[in-house]
Amino acid sequence: KMAKSTEVKIAVFGRAGVGKSALVVRFLTKRFIWEYDPTLESTYRHQTTMEDEIVTMELLDTAGQEDPLLREGHIRWGDGFVIVYDITDRGSFEDVMYFKNLLDDVKKPKNVTFILVGNKADLTHSRQVSTEEGERLAADLSCAFYECSACTGEGNITEAFYELCREIRRRKMVQ
Ligand code: GDP
Ligand code: MG
Repeated sequence: KMAKSTEVKIAVFGRAGVGKSALVVRFLTKRFIWEYDPTLESTYRHQTTMEDEIVTMELLDTAGQEDPLLREGHIRWGDGFVIVYDITDRGSFEDVMYFKNLLDDVKKPKNVTFILVGNKADLTHSRQVSTEEGERLAADLSCAFYECSACTGEGNITEAFYELCREIRRRKMVQ
């Protein structure tokens, strides 16, 4: 019999320079790229199997400088979101609420599925946001939290994307 298949659309948001592109490429290739055109917006497809179902993930790596209308389109398009900040940049952590509010403005707040990722965990010497602060914010927003490094691969980036995928599937099933 044919396996069931689903498509899951994921958009990655966060202040410029937090490592969105590096994270997406790390997830897809298990490698780190040092420089990635910050103005480039890219989409990728990644296929996996979850509980006998073929899941095709479509990943949108947003570029950040886009206009509000384009961004609204990205939010409408997405089934789920990754909001990324950089643990060495407090401003990027403060931007998390800005992105969360954007999602709520476009989707119904109760339907917004997202995870919070604190990237650049390898840069411990210049850390500005503690792990506890990340955990607390995620608890407040009722979302999963991962601290990781696209550079070293620490923090289970694969699991973060898969967990978001599972969460999206759970929500789709109850609808
Ligand atoms: P984006 O603008 O959010 O897509 O960020 P990029 O993926 O282009 O990354 C911005 C800069 O941060 C680049 O110079 C990357 O090499 C660097 N970077 C990204 N992730 C990490 C990380 O986990 N650790 C370190 N040390 N640098 C990172
Ligand atoms: Mg980028």
